[in-house]
Amino acid sequence: MSDARDVFRLCACCPSPCRRAIPADTAPQVETVTPSALSMIALAVIDGELDFDAPVRRALSRTEAARHCRAVCTYGLDVAGTVEAFVAARTVAS
Ligand code: SF4
Repeated sequence: MSDARDVFRLCACCPSPCRRAIPADTAPQVETVTPSALSMIALAVIDGELDFDAPVRRALSRTEAARHCRAVCTYGLDVAGTVEAFVAARTVAS
């Protein structure tokens, strides 16, 4: 799956079975840093429902927890990497 929107759309609707891979002491254990939450935010930016402003960029920069999910993603997605590439591309374009 190469299109970022497709990745974010799938992940945003996923019940996050990958959360078990996030070590309790590695990252804040809050809902907003899960791959699914990051995907929802990115999807809202793509669809024009959220501005790509400083609070959104800050939220999307919190990929530490999501990186732990890469190895166990049910769909084989690298959501953290996709979010990081999305932010980098948007930052260059803005
Ligand atoms: S990273 Fe994979 S397993 Fe985790 S919420 Fe997204 S799609 Fe689901």
